[in-house]
Amino acid sequence: MSSDLVISCMVCGKQDNLKQCAQCKLVHFCGQEHQRSHWPSHKAVCKKVAKLRKRLEEKQKIGRESWAEMTGGLSLQFTGSRRDGVQYKEQLQLAEQELEIDTLVAIESALNHVVDLRNVPFQPLSDDVLEMATSCLIRLGRDQEAYNYLKHWVSRYKDHDVLESPDIFEGRAPSAAFLASVFLVKLRLFTAAEAARHCYTQGGDCSNPLIVATLKKCGLDYVVNEGPELGDQLNNTIRMLQDQMEELYLQVKQLQPDFWSKLPTVHENREPRHDNSGMETQPVLHCYRAFAATRGSFEFVQSFTTDPA
Ligand SMILES: [Zn+2]
Ligand SMILES: [Zn+2]
Repeated sequence: MSSDLVISCMVCGKQDNLKQCAQCKLVHFCGQEHQRSHWPSHKAVCKKVAKLRKRLEEKQKIGRESWAEMTGGLSLQFTGSRRDGVQYKEQLQLAEQELEIDTLVAIESALNHVVDLRNVPFQPLSDDVLEMATSCLIRLGRDQEAYNYLKHWVSRYKDHDVLESPDIFEGRAPSAAFLASVFLVKLRLFTAAEAARHCYTQGGDCSNPLIVATLKKCGLDYVVNEGPELGDQLNNTIRMLQDQMEELYLQVKQLQPDFWSKLPTVHENREPRHDNSGMETQPVLHCYRAFAATRGSFEFVQSFTTDPA
């Protein structure tokens, strides 16, 4: 369903006996030869990440010390540091640079920064941050968490069910990219359900660990235990998801008519930050990355474009 995200040599893809880039610690190599050959294309972003990280660590140290001063002996009870807007901006920049590196380790690290950003008081989370978190979670295969994140944005209701009607987002979504992310989570679930149905209709074994793992990842593991009812349940789920995706597709289009046609080209045209059409490029870039990590997603969107519901 999603492209394989594993720790491997940046040049040859080898997966064992790897050495980490000592500076950014986000990329791996099988040895010095491939580290050297990759350096020209890695150099700029590697240095940027190292510099931003150092600066952030210094700021955090100062923050901790001033927090200790303010609170006297109590400071030992706090592991965190005092937060402010400057640190927020730097941490966000670091996360964005790490995503330029785009390895499994880099995505995990960027996600940690984004989650950490939620602890900064009086800083409203921007669309950037929301899309970044959602995109990272989807690419790490944590679809249910991605959905929870999106849902939490518009509603304080506790239960987060990926299969629920997308009506909940109508009129509340902060951007087209937001709704497209909801669409993508449903598409990934749809793909997993289709794979399970294929297995079922072929008389195959639905306890196939690969299928079970995919369904579990999408919060659909209940179908695995349903036995003979599996076929009907799955068919209903698939049909429902299809309807929901059609609805979301149209909602996205309503919010931003050129969103879907532009999505596949965002990656190439992401400078400057806002392109001529006024499209917010950064949130869309994060959204793009999650689509790109989902095999067949652009083609699927294309099928909606050519044959509107
Ligand atoms: Zn190699
Ligand atoms: Zn590096």
